[in-house]
Amino acid sequence: MGARIDIDIVNHKVVLAERPRGTPVLSDFRIEVEAVVEPARGEVVVGVDVLSIDAFIRTVLDERAYHGGVAIGGTVKALGVGRVLRSNDPSLREGDAVFGGLGAQTISTCPAASLRRIDDDRFPATTYLGVLGLATGVTAYIGMTHVAAVRAGETVVVSGAAGAVGSLAGQIARIAGARVIGIAGGPQKGAFLVDTLGLDAAIDYKSQNVEERLAELAPNGIDVFYDNVGGDILDAALMNIAERARVVICGGISQYDDMANVRGPRNYLKLAERHARMEGFAVTHFPDRFAEAESALAGWLESGQLVMREQFERGIERFPDAVLTLLGGGHTGKLMLDLR
Ligand code: NAP
Repeated sequence: MGARIDIDIVNHKVVLAERPRGTPVLSDFRIEVEAVVEPARGEVVVGVDVLSIDAFIRTVLDERAYHGGVAIGGTVKALGVGRVLRSNDPSLREGDAVFGGLGAQTISTCPAASLRRIDDDRFPATTYLGVLGLATGVTAYIGMTHVAAVRAGETVVVSGAAGAVGSLAGQIARIAGARVIGIAGGPQKGAFLVDTLGLDAAIDYKSQNVEERLAELAPNGIDVFYDNVGGDILDAALMNIAERARVVICGGISQYDDMANVRGPRNYLKLAERHARMEGFAVTHFPDRFAEAESALAGWLESGQLVMREQFERGIERFPDAVLTLLGGGHTGKLMLDLR
């Protein structure tokens, strides 16, 4: 059984102080402290252990966001894992480990129905944010397996390849028998892609001409482009697609700082010339695939075919810094915030 709530327990939460204009700055966030009260019927109180630092956090800082914008003064949205401290719902018991939209805070009071119990005896809780995470491994699996429908022998290119989703998307394509080229910023990330993830080649978009390097590395064209970035990198890939290529729009992080002026692809007519298609998706469109994705990912993790580098910031006061680190690419693999 978990600890009972002490009347003196307080929640430290990260609220949105100002709506960012362009790249967020630390003063856009503020930490507030509030008392924790007994959960209402159907609710639980969760002690948050680890928060997932995801690209979508940037999008919810805007008023109109696909995942719902955070109000000024509202708690910033974030996925996390934690343990139930007090339950007022029969579906969860004190001490249960859970995953869900816990928010950027140390103690989360939320509907029990919004949470999922996790088995932290089988995998460490952080695995449920990374390899088995809805916005990470499950996204990469569904995008590469069901949207791109990758096949053995194909040439696959992944952008944002050293990040959380990208590092798994590249490995899933490799496991499927594809030849995989990853695009990421800097030589260290390039070495990580080839030496640690086992990809066939890496392109450093910060120091190399991506369009030219793709032409050299994929002379017969790209069969699958799994895009996390958009902008110039999407255009460079479009110039190099093969006949019947699939361009998968998983995300477009290069555009998130100015969503009112998203830059569309200049080279989209290559889709017509090469009889190719471009298809976007959100992981939430595929609930009937979640169990399949988790089972495949868990199997690859246990057999050692798939690896995930984890990077941690520590303490709720570091949440804004962690978000800025993610947006600036100052991490490799899965970035998380440890509150334990
Ligand atoms: P992440 O990849 O771990 O971190 C973001 C990475 O983007 C950074 O490491 C940085 O790497 C790169 N980046 C940032 N700005 C860039 C720019 N202007 N040009 C090129 N690269 C840039 O983050 P994540 O949470 O896993 O998200 C990755 C993508 O997946 C995002 O686009 C996100 O929106 C998308 N996503 C989609 C779904 C869905 O359902 N479709 C679900 C989850 C996530 P470098 O150092 O290489 O620049």
